[in-house]
Amino acid sequence: MNDPGSAARCSVVRWTDEEYQLTATAPIRRGEVAVAERPLVAASFASPQYGSVVWDLVDQILSDATVRQAFYGHDLKVTAFPIDDADLPLERALATKHRVSALAVRELLHCVGTNNIGYFDAARKLQGLAIFPTLSRANHSCAPNCRPMPGAAADKQVVLTALTDIDAGDAITWNYLDDSELMALDYGFRNVNLVNSYRFVCQCERCRAEVPPHLAEPRNALRYFDGLIARIGAKAGMGIRRG
Ligand SMILES: [Zn+2]
Repeated sequence: MNDPGSAARCSVVRWTDEEYQLTATAPIRRGEVAVAERPLVAASFASPQYGSVVWDLVDQILSDATVRQAFYGHDLKVTAFPIDDADLPLERALATKHRVSALAVRELLHCVGTNNIGYFDAARKLQGLAIFPTLSRANHSCAPNCRPMPGAAADKQVVLTALTDIDAGDAITWNYLDDSELMALDYGFRNVNLVNSYRFVCQCERCRAEVPPHLAEPRNALRYFDGLIARIGAKAGMGIRRG
């Protein structure tokens, strides 16, 4: 749901054969709101019903036919994250509860894991996770042109505010890593974190300028960072974009 005032400034366009991109349709000045959106579904950290808010979001989507139809209608990106053995009983329980296959529950879990975005209270304290179909089309960049901020907190609204002047036709981007210190680090540190949390190697302009030659092919880079993560024993997880 694009809130009034934001629809005219951005639109979702096809980026590659499989992915979409949020793009400015008019010039946006630094400090202006590029896009504002209320969530399709939201789950608070305060009262997790199924042990994690990601599972709560899966349950909410399956519980409401209108929400489920809207969710699938957005054709959001799906990244297959490794699933914990401990989560398998919950996967089966939700499949039974909602009369769908365990595979359907897992696909939905992957889609929610790929697209969840944090929402804030008015003091910018993270309150929970939500699905924002339009905001989730904005790609990550290590030199982003926008930053997520609380909108109307009572509505769990999130706005992307321009950090720089943005021209019509430019991609709207933000930093998924929620850590300005991490952004000051080099290509390898940024991307090992992105692969661990989000399962992608960044292709932003900054990364393309900084990538070492042996990692220039994205598939090689993904293999390299996967190997590194396995060696250091980091636990891969479904990303939480906090901004
Ligand atoms: Zn990057």
